[in-house]
Amino acid sequence: MSREQELADGLDRVHGRIATACAEAGRSTDEVTLVMVTKFFPASDVRLLAGLGVRDVGENRHQEAEAKAAELADLDLAWHYVGGLQSNKAAAVARYADAVHSLDRAKLVTGLVRGAEERGRDLDVLVQVSLDPPDADHGPGGRAGADPADVPALVERVQQADGLRLRGVMAVAPLGTDPDPAFARLAEVAADVRRLEPAATWISAGMSGDLEQAVRHGATHLRVGSAVLGPRPSNQ
Ligand SMILES: *Cc1c(COP(=O)(O)O)cnc(C)c1O
Repeated sequence: MSREQELADGLDRVHGRIATACAEAGRSTDEVTLVMVTKFFPASDVRLLAGLGVRDVGENRHQEAEAKAAELADLDLAWHYVGGLQSNKAAAVARYADAVHSLDRAKLVTGLVRGAEERGRDLDVLVQVSLDPPDADHGPGGRAGADPADVPALVERVQQADGLRLRGVMAVAPLGTDPDPAFARLAEVAADVRRLEPAATWISAGMSGDLEQAVRHGATHLRVGSAVLGPRPSNQ
């Protein structure tokens, strides 16, 4: 089977899952955007996906994302940066990303503002929220995200920043636990954020393994990789 056929089949399966999940949740599929997470896969796959109708692409590593965005600049793609951000890379990410899902500390704002300004357009920003229990042992490679208690201050910081448009919240369900209560919590945080910023309507949640639960709890942006592209070369 050709790679294109493989990707087309994967896309069909995921669109089918989304349609079923939306029907069960009483939601329209129009409310849900599929962000295809292409990290570790070559630009040639992204090009094939674009030919199959994919418009929103997610990446989580700056150098890889920057190179792909440059190589595929002839395509009309929206680049979503969903990975961990270092403050010394924030400006560079804002120069090619259309949306950054992983703002989790105030320190990143200055760089994002500078990058958006250099590029000459506003940047969509989501506050990444940690859904780990408060006593979780994060360890060195711990999950990213702002503590829900710190989210209002971060929202205010983004509201005051020129060139950043607060769009909503993002989260990754904690590993090895039931994603349902985590996404329910995220929906509460999202509602709190909308009270502060009514235009911040995006909820970026749900991946290959838990997109159904995310749809049930109001996700508007699903970040899906392996269910369409297959297993990644390393466990990232
Ligand atoms: C890799 C990644 C995804 C996609 O994960 P899959 O399980 O392959 O669907 C989603 N969100 C983030 C933040 C990621 O890093």
